[in-house]
Amino acid sequence: MKKPETIAIIVAAGRGARAGAGGPKQYRALGERAVIAWTAEAFLTHDDIDAVRIIIHRDDHDAYEAAMDGLLAHPKLLPPVDGGAQRQDSVRIGVESLAANAPAYVLIHDAARPFIDAPSIARVIAALQTHDGAIAALPMHDTIKRADRHAGADAVIDATVPRDGLWRAQTPQGFHFDKILSAHRAAQGEVLTDDAAVAEAAQMRVALVAGSPDNMKITQAEDFGMAEILLRRKVNEMEYRTGHGYDVHTFEDGAAVILCGVEIPHDKKLKGHSDADAGMHALTDAILGAIGEGDIGDHFPPSDPQWKGAPSRIFLTKAHELVAARAGRIIHCDVTLICEAPKIGPHREKMRAALGEILQIEPSRISVKATTTEQLGFTGRREGIAAMATATIALPQ
Ligand code: MG
Repeated sequence: MKKPETIAIIVAAGRGARAGAGGPKQYRALGERAVIAWTAEAFLTHDDIDAVRIIIHRDDHDAYEAAMDGLLAHPKLLPPVDGGAQRQDSVRIGVESLAANAPAYVLIHDAARPFIDAPSIARVIAALQTHDGAIAALPMHDTIKRADRHAGADAVIDATVPRDGLWRAQTPQGFHFDKILSAHRAAQGEVLTDDAAVAEAAQMRVALVAGSPDNMKITQAEDFGMAEILLRRKVNEMEYRTGHGYDVHTFEDGAAVILCGVEIPHDKKLKGHSDADAGMHALTDAILGAIGEGDIGDHFPPSDPQWKGAPSRIFLTKAHELVAARAGRIIHCDVTLICEAPKIGPHREKMRAALGEILQIEPSRISVKATTTEQLGFTGRREGIAAMATATIALPQ
């Protein structure tokens, strides 16, 4: 059976006044990236999610682009849409934005919950086969007190609220698209605290499915402390892999070689089906090796005429996409070019920048080195250039 088309809406239009200074919390750093990037990645890399639409504040386009750097070109990412005055308005605008090509299901999630896990997303979607809606939630285990004042040191218990049947609602909250669209239209003007409440007001049947205790919402400045602890645990659970690549191309008559994406004037060129960038080919194979995805030839068969003369950046881009599709991260690359000439040193920084741009990592995570073979062998006889590369990659287990 074909899976029902499912689009995730991530609500990121809030101004985050409660999280204190430093701008909206969804754009603040959590580890090496912004909160929203962690959140978006969880949905972009989920097999059951076909597309992701993020709802942002109209003043936040620059912050959004900076925060999403590295994910902006993701094929599942739709352009962002400006939200409304309140969260409920933003969600309605987001749902409306999908109405022209309505998916079967929509999942609505808060940008400030970056630790949403793949099984929780899958459970919400699975429950939509039998319900109009389904939300991630956790049963209450704490005893619940109602105070006779709202807050502060003066609060005094007014009553103990029976906790039987009480759940804490999280996101994502998933719904049949057409039903939640009607429900949001009908609820306009009312103030409801979450999308499940909008669905309940429309008499939709909404299932409670198990969320995760880690799926915290970053609400106040203090929450970043707990978020950093959860992030460290997530990073510690990554597995690290190293891949290796090797490539050789022969010289033929020409005026320049292309190595690691940089054109270098020379009295020869490199012969090959593509642009014969041996450095980039070795690096592509190293990355593919680390994730067990075969080699360049599997993805771009030399027998296929469409790759004739192709710029090698498309190969490296493909390898990067395959890593990103697994929510992996390229930690470090090391390329060694082996030739008597041309001289590589003067072009090294440009090469690191060119590779970094394609892989969307800092040049400091890329090394390019060169060596000769003391005039021994085919590289020593100046018959061609060889390249070796290693790539270290972190993958979620
Ligand atoms: Mg090659």
